[in-house]
Amino acid sequence: MIDATTDESLLMARLQTLRWKAGLRCPRCGHRDCTLHARGKEGRRKLRCSGCGRTFNDLTGTPLARTHLPLTLWAKAARLMASGHQTCSSLSVKLDVKLATAWRVRKILTEALKDADLRRTLVTEDMP
Ligand SMILES: [Zn+2]
Repeated sequence: MIDATTDESLLMARLQTLRWKAGLRCPRCGHRDCTLHARGKEGRRKLRCSGCGRTFNDLTGTPLARTHLPLTLWAKAARLMASGHQTCSSLSVKLDVKLATAWRVRKILTEALKDADLRRTLVTEDMP
């Protein structure tokens, strides 16, 4: 049985491990002293930098920042795109999202998949 929440947390954990493999660092000023500011659902967290005082999350500074779609949807779309060319309408049907969303997903993922860590997070064999 596939538990969507668990998969979301798993993807987030994988992203955190890959993105911060050299240690957590503020994406804006590079300061290393960052503390947990708030914790959302499914492993999403908000961090605060003690250097510049700004908050960020694990997606800040990546093409997936400020998107509100679950990582499981990004992963599904990324695997479809990795398996061959996808038109917006075929993505829209396969992901069960509106055509405009599929267009945005494809545009953002084209950028996101150039990042090795995001690619390794999203395009994996052991995910649904
Ligand atoms: Zn900072």
